[in-house]
Amino acid sequence: MSRFGLYVHIPYCLQICTYCDFVKFEAKDLPPADEYVSLLEEELAVRTSAFRDSIWPKTTPVHSIYFGGGTPSLFSPSQILAILKGIATNGFVPASGASGAMEISLEINPGTITPESLDEFLKIGITRFSVGAQTFDENRLKVTGRKHTVQETIATLELLANKGVNYSFDLLFGLPGQTVADVRKDVRRALEFQPSHLSAYNLTVPTGHPLNKGRASDGHQAEMFEVIEDELKTAGLLCYEVSNFAKPGFESQHNLLYWTDGAYWGLGIGSHSYLPNWASTHSPWGVRFWNPATVRAYRDELKRARSAQFWSDFPEQRREVLALHELLTDFSHTSLRRLSGLSFRSVLQKFGPAGGRMLLSEFDRRLAPLVETALVQKFGASDFHSDGGWRLTPKGRPLADRVFEALTFLESDKLSLPEV
Ligand code: SF4
Repeated sequence: MSRFGLYVHIPYCLQICTYCDFVKFEAKDLPPADEYVSLLEEELAVRTSAFRDSIWPKTTPVHSIYFGGGTPSLFSPSQILAILKGIATNGFVPASGASGAMEISLEINPGTITPESLDEFLKIGITRFSVGAQTFDENRLKVTGRKHTVQETIATLELLANKGVNYSFDLLFGLPGQTVADVRKDVRRALEFQPSHLSAYNLTVPTGHPLNKGRASDGHQAEMFEVIEDELKTAGLLCYEVSNFAKPGFESQHNLLYWTDGAYWGLGIGSHSYLPNWASTHSPWGVRFWNPATVRAYRDELKRARSAQFWSDFPEQRREVLALHELLTDFSHTSLRRLSGLSFRSVLQKFGPAGGRMLLSEFDRRLAPLVETALVQKFGASDFHSDGGWRLTPKGRPLADRVFEALTFLESDKLSLPEV
């Protein structure tokens, strides 16, 4: 059975950042936080029993809960606690991990927590924080539309570091006018506050977007990534996914769900869900579904959602039953994003011995030219029964898109497998 997590979307933002494509709103344009908490409680109350009776086994424990946004730290600890209570009273039982505690993450914006609220968040069970710091350059914060100042970032990081809290630092690089030396300075500064985890995102905006002006060349952006990796490695934070680095044991359990074909249910406006192995209903290759992206539509839907038929709330426009070629594309890309790579074992487990062997031969054929050019490394024995697989090389990591292109499966590939 897949590992399972809950994602809770809190779309309230202090500002609308110029590069962001999440479902988000300025807090002033949304109902008061208490009202949104009530909607989340209602969603849990209305949908959980149908979800657990007919969609997902009652007995599956929750491995992680992630409060993402938006800026969840705009909500008070007591509001977050009310949501956690809603999750517990609807029968979700935490899985006990190696450390005995389920991971509960909360995204925070610099300047939105105080020593008192941090204590409260810890008291209600938040085990991990993710700080949207982005850069220590005041001008670049402004250009990207962030409202917080460098001083607020420093104050928030000092607070977390002094408490010895488990937290992740979000770093944005490839910004307009930014040089490789600027990026090195940002990483070194971040490391002064001893994060246990760092996510490094290369700015991605569409062609013609104002933020594309004055950016470093692709070659220099690849160099920025190498500098980030080098600096972090020296500090003991290892790359376990193409954009994510952690001290051993501090990898994000929730994000690992996304990269290991785990199941997750998303609550709140615009949140997305994925269930693999949906064989009991309609598809062996999994299903994605998502909530409406506006408060009004979400609220209206909850008013109507009184039936025990979970799927009647998710019309075809908000539900995607995956075909084999779509699952294969997702599965191979997310596996290769991880340092551990795409293993023979995981393919055989997911697709069965006969189907798995057929797919491994197909992967081998497609990846051979990339192994030749050293973007991908084939490790372990070439016998698919033994431990082994493929992983991106350090040279291949900044060029991962080229590898993913080779592993993009199309309907016209006409793949079919024996039943799983
Ligand atoms: S705060 Fe986060 S979610 Fe909100 S606009 Fe900025 S990047 Fe997007």
